[in-house]
Amino acid sequence: MDSFVVIGAGPAGLAAAQELTQRGLRATVIEAAEVVGGLSRTVCHRGYRFDIGGHRFFTKSRAVQDFWEDLLGDDLLLRPRLSRIYYQGKFFDYPLDPVKTLLGLGPVEALRIVLSYLRAQMGRSTAEERTFDQWVTKRFGRRLFETFFKSYTEKVWGIPCSEIDAAWAAQRIRNLDVGVLLRNAILGSRVRSEGKIVISLIERFHYPRLGPGQMWERCAERLAELGTETRLGMRVERVRHRDGRITSVVARAPDGAEVEFEADGFLSSMPIPDFIHALDPPPRKEVIRAADRLRYRDFVMVGLVIDRANVFPDNWIYVNTSEVKVGRIQNFKNWSPDMVPDPTKTSLGLEYFVQENDDLWCTPDEDLVELASRECEALGLIKRDEVMDGIVIRTPKAYPVYDGNYREVLVTIRAELAQFRNLEVIGRNGQHRYNNQDHAMLTGMLGARNLAEGSDHDIWAVNLEADYHEEIHAPAWAGRDRLVPRRIRPEAPKEWIRRAFARYDPAALAGAIGCVSGLGLFLATAVLLLRGSDPMGPTLSLLGNYFLGYTVTWPGAWLGLAEAGVLGAAFGWVLARLLNLVIGMEQRALESRIDTLGAMDPFNEGNR
Ligand SMILES: Cc1cc2nc3c(=O)[nH]c(=O)nc-3n(C[C@H](O)[C@H](O)[C@H](O)COP(=O)(O)OP(=O)(O)OC[C@H]3O[C@@H](n4cnc5c(N)ncnc54)[C@H](O)[C@@H]3O)c2cc1C
Repeated sequence: MDSFVVIGAGPAGLAAAQELTQRGLRATVIEAAEVVGGLSRTVCHRGYRFDIGGHRFFTKSRAVQDFWEDLLGDDLLLRPRLSRIYYQGKFFDYPLDPVKTLLGLGPVEALRIVLSYLRAQMGRSTAEERTFDQWVTKRFGRRLFETFFKSYTEKVWGIPCSEIDAAWAAQRIRNLDVGVLLRNAILGSRVRSEGKIVISLIERFHYPRLGPGQMWERCAERLAELGTETRLGMRVERVRHRDGRITSVVARAPDGAEVEFEADGFLSSMPIPDFIHALDPPPRKEVIRAADRLRYRDFVMVGLVIDRANVFPDNWIYVNTSEVKVGRIQNFKNWSPDMVPDPTKTSLGLEYFVQENDDLWCTPDEDLVELASRECEALGLIKRDEVMDGIVIRTPKAYPVYDGNYREVLVTIRAELAQFRNLEVIGRNGQHRYNNQDHAMLTGMLGARNLAEGSDHDIWAVNLEADYHEEIHAPAWAGRDRLVPRRIRPEAPKEWIRRAFARYDPAALAGAIGCVSGLGLFLATAVLLLRGSDPMGPTLSLLGNYFLGYTVTWPGAWLGLAEAGVLGAAFGWVLARLLNLVIGMEQRALESRIDTLGAMDPFNEGNR
């Protein structure tokens, strides 16, 4: 294949185009919007720059990191992270600092959280974890889930946590281990230094000096220098195909004209339902019905310009209360000082998670600016008369939703698309995968290689974090070699650890200690009775203080057997549970060290 069409100039599409261009192949990028960057663009309003949600740049992939550094050089800043959760009028460090959190919550609430955490640990091996709330509760306890996860998560997704697939929690929260955090907070420097590995990847991040859009604008410029055109304002409406091959795409230009692009190979990062509907001739009805079942969460960002140099020190604040509608507040100046043109002012981004065409989505811009100003004041961050200006940015399909259907739908869609030998679907909405920029880029890079080289990278495996560690080397223009993706099996070491940290069976230990105690007392009493007088007799009868009705007599021996048996069993059961708790904490500490490189946080997206 010599010529290619890439649909979408977001991170996935541009990374794919870069991969093709560096091989000297002809590519055209077709983008519906008037700017590049997709969800990772930066909107400039009177000199103030706003992300569509703050975009941290972090990756495990050397290739992606090299791509970013090569494009931006010194303009790729390394920034410190400060983020907190607003809850019941107070701010709590996020990632959570257990000691500060418990102190901040007060003794009663702190005790409830600790007890609920311990309870969750005791029942952990048997608790179900199909849904988000089950997954979090199993690890952190119900109370912590309700305090710090529930309200924000439900604002983001607009559905109860009990309907969110646990896969998402596993992907996003897997390294947050309360046991490790507690240990780090309580114990000294040795553990703290180990813990630091877990935290270090989330306490700093890369960020372009002028916001993420700068990266993608620079990338499009670089592509143009190398001869690859990005056609803006062109929405792909039809995807023509014949005999198992895509032959062309037809895009609507800003003047309403249709423009057809033919090529040998095609990469699409447009949302799956749009792609399926664009197929010409159309696919079977059940495929269209399946694609229509995919759900999204949409996003409204209200940018406010505040007449104050410093509003709060955080990059962003999670708002974990249902009293206001805003879910998260960005302070873009703290991401990069150059996001504002005037250092005496501050720009905030209030994030509202919505459904396209719901009330909030349809609210006029000036009312949304008013709402955002009011809510900021209600949270005690600003005074309303400090708001100098506002802007509203509406973004459809910001979050692909992992509901109960999406896996089944993707099976149908993938089977349908597999017939096209010259097509790769890439990126976040192109694969309906909750990808960050780096994973979106990797799918683009690998998809491009599949088409250009006939290689067989499984791009659907990118970002299946538990069993895939993507690593490809830098692009040729960065002067490095190239590796192929490889699968790792983090389950294997974890499996060994699981075996090494075998748990006590509470029933077995209860039975064993119960039998030993009961029979011990019975035999001691019986020996005394059979041998007649013995100096031990009076001493043994002191046990009557502990075992109701016990005496050195035959009835007393039977009573002692029963009572010591029951007490011993209870002791054995509690002992097994406590030992399992300690073993479990140790095991999770080790497992989380294995996961260290993927350290994420539940609000990651930078967020989520
Ligand atoms: C609020 C929020 C915060 C985020 N924070 C982070 C973060 O901190 N770090 C991080 O790494 N990632 C973050 N992400 C994720 C990141 O934005 C995405 O992973 C990334 O932008 C996906 O790239 P993409 O190219 O796959 O898709 P997109 O960015 O969605 O790009 C797809 C492009 O295709 C175009 N398109 C769609 N349909 C058509 C059509 N019919 N014809 C032509 N063009 C079309 C769109 O206009 C768009 O430009 C965040 C996302 C959101 C919503």
